[in-house]
Amino acid sequence: MSDQAGQRPSPAQRIGVLGGGQLGRMLGLAGIPLGMSFVFLDPAADACAAATGELLQAGFSDTGAARDLAARVDVATFDFENVPESTARTLLDTCPFYPAPNALGASQDRITESELISGLGIQVPPWFKVSSRTDLLEALDTLGYPAVLKTRRMGYDGKGQAVLRDQEDLERAWQRLGDFELILQSFVPFDLECSMVAVRGLNGDTKIWPLIRNVHSNGILMLSLPGVFDQALQLKAAEKMRTLLEHLDYIGVLTMEFFLSQGELLVNEFAPRVHNSGHWTIDGASCSQFENHLRAVAGLPLGETEMTGCSIMFNWIGAMPDQVKAMAIPGLHWHDYGKAPRPGRKIGHATLTAATMEELKFNANRLAGIAGGEFPALLRDIFD
Ligand code: AMP
Repeated sequence: MSDQAGQRPSPAQRIGVLGGGQLGRMLGLAGIPLGMSFVFLDPAADACAAATGELLQAGFSDTGAARDLAARVDVATFDFENVPESTARTLLDTCPFYPAPNALGASQDRITESELISGLGIQVPPWFKVSSRTDLLEALDTLGYPAVLKTRRMGYDGKGQAVLRDQEDLERAWQRLGDFELILQSFVPFDLECSMVAVRGLNGDTKIWPLIRNVHSNGILMLSLPGVFDQALQLKAAEKMRTLLEHLDYIGVLTMEFFLSQGELLVNEFAPRVHNSGHWTIDGASCSQFENHLRAVAGLPLGETEMTGCSIMFNWIGAMPDQVKAMAIPGLHWHDYGKAPRPGRKIGHATLTAATMEELKFNANRLAGIAGGEFPALLRDIFD
C-alpha cells in the first residue's frame, strides 16, 4: 500500500498497445481487473480493441502518433507483429516497450527467423532464399517437390504462400508471388502441428503453458487442444522455448509453432506475442496468456500456467454458429470479438472446459454439430 492517502502503488497502470485487433481487445479485458487502462494505436476506425480502451487512429508508420501514444502510457507493447521495428524504437525513446524490438524484427522476416532459430541449434524445415526465378529452380533441384513457397515478410495464417507439387503449381505461384522476396521451404510431411506459449518476466522468471495440439484448414487455425502430449515431448519443446527466450532476453508472451514429424519437433515460426492457439488459457488455465503478458510487461509477478481441467478451443472464421444453441452446452465459454463478419476473418472463438476428456469429447462433438462445416471432420482429426 502507498503511505500517501489517495495515491496508487507503483506497477505500470497505463498500457499502450500497437494494434487494436482481437488480441488487443483480450489484453484489455484481462488488464481492466488488474486496474490497468489502455490506449491502442490502429489504422482502423472500427478497431475492436477500442471497446476496452482509447483508440488513437493512425498508421503504424506514423511516428508522431507513436510518440503521442508513448507520452500517454507507462509501458507499451503490441498485438500485431508486422508493425515497423522503427515505430517500436520510436516508442522506446519515451517509454519502456516489451518485448524488445529485436524479437519483433527477427520474427518479421522468415529468413532472419529461420537463421536465428537454427543458429540456436533448433531444427527448422530445410529452406532456401529465393530472389529470382533461377534461385527458385535451383532451390527446387535440391529440395524437390512438394515444397512451400512463402513471402519473407507480411505472411500469416497461410497468406502469401503456395504449396508447389508440380511445374504447374510453380508457374501459378510465381505469377502471384514472383514480385516479392521469398523463401522456399521443404514441405514437412508432419504427423501433427502443435504450439507452445510461454511468458518471461522482467526478472527472467519463465512460465510455460502445456503444449497445444492445433488443427488448421487452408492455413488458418480451427481447433486447439492443450495438454494431450506426453511429458517427454513437453520437455523437448520447453527446452527449445527456454533457449529462444533467454537468447532474446525476452519479456512478455512468446509462441512457438511446431511440426511434429517422426517424433521430432521442427519450428515453423515463432510469434513474439499472445497467440490464437493460447486463447483457451482464458477459461482453461490458472492465469491466461493475456493476463500474464500484462503482468510481465508491467513488472508484476507471473501467474500460474497449469490447466484447471480439460479444454478445447474452436475458432470462428467468417461466421459464428448459433449462440443460443452453443451456450446451452455445459462448460461453453463464448468470445465474440465485435468484428463485422467477412469470409476468412477471425471474428470470435469458443472454449469448452470439462472435468474429464470423455466429457470434453462429448460436448465438443455437440458443438461441432452446431457449428457444422468442417468442424465434425476436424474434430475427429484432433481426437484421433
Ligand atoms: P504459416 O503461415 O507459416 O504459419 O503456415 C500456415 C500453415 O500452412 C501451417 O500451420 C501448416 O499447416 C502449413 N505449412 C506451412 N509451412 C509448411 C511446410 N513447410 N510444410 C507443411 N505444411 C506447411
